[in-house]
Amino acid sequence: EKVLINEQLINREEASFSFDDRSMYFGDGIYEVIRIYGGFPFQMEMHMQRFQRSAEELDIPFDYDVKQSLTNSLLELLKENELNEGIIYVQLSRGSADRNHLYERHTEPLIFAFTKPMERPQQAMSEGIATYLTEDERWLRCDIKTVNLLGNVMAKRKAADHDCQEALLHRGDLMTEGSSSNLFIIKGDVVQTHPANNYILNGITRQLVLDYIEEHGKSVVFEPIQVEDMKNIDEAFITSTTSEITPIVELRGTVHHKLTVGPLTKSLQKRFDEDVVKTEQG
Ligand code: PLP
Repeated sequence: EKVLINEQLINREEASFSFDDRSMYFGDGIYEVIRIYGGFPFQMEMHMQRFQRSAEELDIPFDYDVKQSLTNSLLELLKENELNEGIIYVQLSRGSADRNHLYERHTEPLIFAFTKPMERPQQAMSEGIATYLTEDERWLRCDIKTVNLLGNVMAKRKAADHDCQEALLHRGDLMTEGSSSNLFIIKGDVVQTHPANNYILNGITRQLVLDYIEEHGKSVVFEPIQVEDMKNIDEAFITSTTSEITPIVELRGTVHHKLTVGPLTKSLQKRFDEDVVKTEQG
């Protein structure tokens, strides 16, 4: 099995990087997770665009040429590892320098990537998951996909400790998103999700689902959902690259409520499947 380090494909056992990498000391780096269906990447261009934006927001050098050559290297890695169903993880860090909060602009960035086989979460997608509502304790630039994920990590553990598969975060009275997913709710004819601002990561899956909803002729309200309103909804689901569109059937933590897998959720899943099949067929 090969991994990518700075444009080179090498054996995983031979891969290493600097003790002084800034992602180690400061979480000073960004990442993307790209889904592979039938050997083909899903929405790779959108992921690379977001990767570039994250880099720009953190002032880590990543220009058009680097983006193009990285895209090619990732496709090569995919081929080399003969990955059919799974993910590519790719990370860019500011690179190696003596530990100092102040970063210098001449540091050589580090890019690495690996592939991992992963099946689609069929059971969760058909039966739904239990979620744990808890305070959002992250920083105020959740729109940047940084490897600094402690707020997410802590929330995910808390959810698991309460037998829930995902944590749903709220800042005070307002729902933001999941610890590694976006949140949608449906009430009557209205679909609601958090606006894409600094409080959430604008998920690639979220953006696709918004397109599907528009195709359905439904409108979306881009406003944070009140925590109390979570007791009065018809359907809810999370979206992410790995969980796709996963229905929520139970809320615990701050609010307790039970739900069933609803018709709009199912129909959006069906629409998503069409795009998966298209990807698989190349
Ligand atoms: N929100 C957070 C905090 C995430 O970590 C993720 C993905 O890991 C998402 C949302 C969903 O984003 P995407 O659909 O691009 O995978």
